[in-house]
Amino acid sequence: MNYHVLTLFPEMILEGLHTSIIGRAIEKGLISLEAVNIRDFALESRKGRVDDYPYGGGAGMVMQAEPVYRACRHVTEKTEGTPRVIYLTPQGNVFTQSLAEELAGEKDLVFLCGHYEGIDERVLEEVVTDYVSIGDYVLTGGELPAMVMIDAISRLVPGVLNNQESAQFESFQDNLLEYPQYSRPEEWRGKCVPPVLLSGHHGNVDQWRREQSLKRTLERRPDLLETADLTEKDRKYLNKLLANMEET
Ligand code: SAM
Repeated sequence: MNYHVLTLFPEMILEGLHTSIIGRAIEKGLISLEAVNIRDFALESRKGRVDDYPYGGGAGMVMQAEPVYRACRHVTEKTEGTPRVIYLTPQGNVFTQSLAEELAGEKDLVFLCGHYEGIDERVLEEVVTDYVSIGDYVLTGGELPAMVMIDAISRLVPGVLNNQESAQFESFQDNLLEYPQYSRPEEWRGKCVPPVLLSGHHGNVDQWRREQSLKRTLERRPDLLETADLTEKDRKYLNKLLANMEET
């Protein structure tokens, strides 16, 4: 996987992603990361400036079309095929685990980070294939959203997570949240690890985890259950939980 991030703040991307698991994956060559400074593609007459006043008036500045177009072409001219160009924007589809899974299958991904009031619409129409938001709030720039996406996608690239880090079940698998996790000691400040996890009985552990997963999803994200992959047994368990909730 090769990531190409078009940004006004390349150091933010490079410093943010060269640590921990993602940094190790870059070192191992499992993924590559290029941060392209859009300022390097400024119009000759503007001496490194890439923003200008919005037509029609209003507050803030807008990133100009031509530097963004040149920066994007600089990347797409050297990639094989036509990579997806993702514009990070609060106006996009909200990023999900299933989109992360889809994007993890790509060879190259280009992320376009906006700043100020955003980017001239005409270049977006020309180069962008996907409009993606990381949530319904407004940030100062697209760099953090790009890093969030790169982190989520990279951990799905084979080899990036080692066996210890790789979870067999994780939140959003089957559209359910993950069950609670415990580690040593067995008792901490009077709170004990659920006995089933110490029993060594794999069948019982699996059943407990599935039930905890269902319970947690019902309590915290009931919306996910509408499209969750549920068995008849799961449904019965959920109905029992709902009946208990109604009683109390
Ligand atoms: N004026 C824009 C609007 O109302 O849609 C918001 C611009 S925002 C201050 C500056 C940049 O931050 C955007 O161009 C985008 O790249 C990024 N950004 C802000 N919030 C975001 C979010 N929730 N998801 C993804 N990108 C975001």
